[in-house]
Amino acid sequence: MTLKDTLKKLTEAYGPSGEEKEVSSLIIGMVKDNADDIFEDNLGNLFVVKKGKGPKVMISAHMDEIGIIVTHIDENGFLRIAPVGGISPRLLVGQRLRFNSGLIGTVYHEKLKELKELDWSKIYLDIGAENLESATKSVKIGDLACLDQPFKEQREGRYMAKSMDDRAGCAVLVEVINRLNGELPQEACFVFSVQEELGLRGAKTAAYRYEPDFGLAVDVTLVGDTPKAPTMAVSLGKGPAIKVKDSSVLCHPAVRRFMIDIADENCIPYQLEVLTRGGTDAGAIHLTREGVPSGAISIPCRYVHTASEVVDKIDLDYAVTLLEKLLLSTWPGTEGLYSR
Ligand SMILES: [Zn+2]
Repeated sequence: MTLKDTLKKLTEAYGPSGEEKEVSSLIIGMVKDNADDIFEDNLGNLFVVKKGKGPKVMISAHMDEIGIIVTHIDENGFLRIAPVGGISPRLLVGQRLRFNSGLIGTVYHEKLKELKELDWSKIYLDIGAENLESATKSVKIGDLACLDQPFKEQREGRYMAKSMDDRAGCAVLVEVINRLNGELPQEACFVFSVQEELGLRGAKTAAYRYEPDFGLAVDVTLVGDTPKAPTMAVSLGKGPAIKVKDSSVLCHPAVRRFMIDIADENCIPYQLEVLTRGGTDAGAIHLTREGVPSGAISIPCRYVHTASEVVDKIDLDYAVTLLEKLLLSTWPGTEGLYSR
């Protein structure tokens, strides 16, 4: 299966935070022939282990996506909703939402004097029900839904879909798992984590269980290359970004150095990323137990947390190569770090 096919399958799957089962089953099917061990934990994190000698590395990509939760159903069968993860009501108007059952609704808003009044209390979801009774036959309070958009190749190598955040990261991990064979210089545990969008929850218990010697997250990051975008030194199509800092983590200099050295040695283009808002699983991993040196490989992505997130094949391909080469190299540890 090509990376594009993997990405299409994963991004079209249903998986708001807490309901990642469909994504996790797809991933198991994609990697089971190339894993030394596969297991899940109590929260639903999926662990895929490739055996190796020496230290242990955990590589995390989250399976969950942003979504909504049903908070109220009125007598005419219209639903009120609240966010699950960082999603804006403005970006939902006119969008279709899909429940796990396959039921589709469309989002609109009440009459507004000014557009700035648009908040969660003003929007509703129309599922085509005639009244409360018929609505409750298919939807209950607390049900979740995700965006409903097909995967598209906008032009060659430019991919658009919902939930690129972070199925793009999941697809990179799947590709690397299937490429690596033979014994690795360190044991690698690929964690497909749950509930990242609610505050890095899955990665927290996964890292506690696995006790890695160092950790990596693979997730999307924002870019500064669109009209009047907030200034940011990351663009689409210039290679994966090696994270320096975001709101959840200051990446350990030894991990950063390791990634940069591997990229340089293998002529892999990369960008350096400082994300001033937002976090990723590395934020949870590095605070585990007595501390775990952690870093992240970021995939540049336009329009993060919308129904049409855009990534570039060049960045994905080089992210795969960087991660693969990294896992085939021996982790130098943190000693002698500042003398390098
Ligand atoms: Zn993410």
